[in-house]
Amino acid sequence: HSWFADVPTAPKDPILGITEAYLANTRPDKINLGVGAYRDDDSKPVVLNVVREAESRIAGANFMEYLPIGGLKAFNDLSVKLAFGEDAECIKEGRVAAVQSLSGTGSCRLMAEFMARYMPGAKIWIPKPTWSNHHNIWKDAGVKEAIYKYYKPETRGLDQEGLLEDLSTAQPGDVVLLHACAHNPTGVDPTVEQWQEISTLMKEKKLFPFFDMAYQGFASGDCTRDAQAIRTFLKDGHQLGCSQSYAKNMGLYGQRTGCFSLITASAQETTSVESQMKAIARPMYSNPPLHGALLVKEILGDAALKQQWYEEVKGMADRIITMRALLRKNLEALGSPLPWKHITEQIGMFCFSGISPEQVDRLAQEHAIFMTRNGRISMAGVTTKNVDRLAEALHQVTT
Ligand code: PLP
Repeated sequence: HSWFADVPTAPKDPILGITEAYLANTRPDKINLGVGAYRDDDSKPVVLNVVREAESRIAGANFMEYLPIGGLKAFNDLSVKLAFGEDAECIKEGRVAAVQSLSGTGSCRLMAEFMARYMPGAKIWIPKPTWSNHHNIWKDAGVKEAIYKYYKPETRGLDQEGLLEDLSTAQPGDVVLLHACAHNPTGVDPTVEQWQEISTLMKEKKLFPFFDMAYQGFASGDCTRDAQAIRTFLKDGHQLGCSQSYAKNMGLYGQRTGCFSLITASAQETTSVESQMKAIARPMYSNPPLHGALLVKEILGDAALKQQWYEEVKGMADRIITMRALLRKNLEALGSPLPWKHITEQIGMFCFSGISPEQVDRLAQEHAIFMTRNGRISMAGVTTKNVDRLAEALHQVTT
């Protein structure tokens, strides 16, 4: 008898299932719209030139040592400036506790564990829908979740009224998970005015904002504009938490490079909070990986490289924005009677197309076009070479 005979097989991750179906398909013109990673116009993964340059600069350096538990200090300092602004008061006043994390997922996991220990009884409010891993992360930390309305299928836009209504029922001290920009999976972000309303309500209700920022720069192409929601909350005097990831905006996916930060009320509090972040990290993984942090430090710490990075992020965002426009134009040119305006109104890597699970299945079976069953199109998979065929297939299954 095996020790593991009673271990059931865990359900498959929905995204991995799509990749498998795509790989198993033999049509030469098959299209994978499931991947949450950037691809160029030839459907190829991209290493940014600025990352290549940074790699050449750190080559041969003494960089095989362990990092401290909290990671590379210079990396953390540069990261929080990117999120909160070069001149942010909270940084100047020593009110930011930060540790390097295992990318965005790791930041969220540290926050969940921090909540379990130091924000007892607080629920995590998660938008509906969200990146599916959010549910798993807070569940594993034993934190109770509550759901707030976010997306309105009728308009394929934000349900601001539902959102405010749900958050106004939260208990003081609860934590609200907000996608800082380029909401995954809907591509729907609040406007500047709507963010202001959310911030005002949360201040009034004493709710703690936790920003998951997995796509800074990837939404509009402008890193400062993409941090606008966070800046609004800072201006309103919130203490807040932030998860940063360099997976998408620097293409460091596999390097697991991120930063987890919490804004405190004083430099003294920062010392305590940061020490507890490290106390959580130590038994989990001892210390974070080095290579990606060195690359980011090199890039953000050098004015010329940083400028080059800004331009390359903008290049990726612009390609996606162009594909949105082309996809919509093609559908309209085919005479589709359906509204497709949301394709260009949504932002970031994903388009929540609004098609049904049955239509998604037909796209896979009849057209070898693969996406998640919620109708989410990864715009990174759309290119000038496949956008015509995609539009025709979408038109066929929706009429
Ligand atoms: N948060 C959101 C909203 C995401 O979409 C993702 C990635 O898809 C992540 C966090 C985590 O990504 P990573 O752990 O690779 O930084």
